[in-house]
Amino acid sequence: MLGAARDDGSSVGLVTTMGALHQGHLSLVEAAHRDCDFVTVTIFVNPTQFGEAADLAAYPRDLGADLLLCEQAGVDAAFAPSTEEMYPSGPPATVVSPGPIASTLEGASRPGHFAGVATVLTKLFTLAGECTAYFGEKDYQQLVVVRQLVHDLDLPVAVRGCPTVREPDGLALSSRNRWLSHDGRVAALSLWRALGAGRLLVEGGESDAGAVEAAMLTALGASPLVVPDYAVAADPISLEPVETLENEVRLLVAGRVESVRLIDNVAASVKISA
Ligand code: AMP
Repeated sequence: MLGAARDDGSSVGLVTTMGALHQGHLSLVEAAHRDCDFVTVTIFVNPTQFGEAADLAAYPRDLGADLLLCEQAGVDAAFAPSTEEMYPSGPPATVVSPGPIASTLEGASRPGHFAGVATVLTKLFTLAGECTAYFGEKDYQQLVVVRQLVHDLDLPVAVRGCPTVREPDGLALSSRNRWLSHDGRVAALSLWRALGAGRLLVEGGESDAGAVEAAMLTALGASPLVVPDYAVAADPISLEPVETLENEVRLLVAGRVESVRLIDNVAASVKISA
């Protein structure tokens, strides 16, 4: 179907998701519509990127609602394969390993996660063929992994990062937010506050990454319902840790709120004084 669209001269936009679609996903569809003639969405809860079986089993699924949202958003084709269709021989023997970046930050907390992501995306990109693929900055490390994957394997895919869609109070939209209680929802704002505290310091001229990270960690742990995982300042391209802040930096935080794992990040720029 995508080949036929390309044969007709259409450009193809691809949005890969695990379903439970919300406005964050739909913002990627909107971005794809702005650039491309034919927009396709994949919906697949990929078992190989989950560490804990319970997390996979509990992941929200509502294909009927997702397909309706796709239709309303003008998606030209939705691809929602079963696990058997994606992995007819069971978990694949061939796995795409993203290297060192896969074992830091999210990768440190979720061993095997990015190999699962890189493997399923290699399959989806191969099925899709030449296209532009849209990914949210919400999952910033994933975006970095995808850019590296496409570069290293010469895949015919242009990768576009899109801004994080947030609730009016700043909480990043996530399929996992639905598991939070009212109090958990309030506590989850600690992630956004931590990033705000970090950004304020960076923009105020703080050059010591350790001081920025410590302030973010304090803000993250301010609520007793939040168990902080990490709060780091990293190079925006490589996600390597930085010690001295210069120019652009990416601030990333992660924590568990009522056992729901949440992540968020923002860009911050060191102001160069004239
Ligand atoms: P997921 O279904 O969680 O695998 O996400 C599918 C795509 O949607 C990924 O590229 C995510 O980064 C992106 N996404 C998820 N939440 C948001 C958000 N709040 N804003 C922008 N993009 C998002």
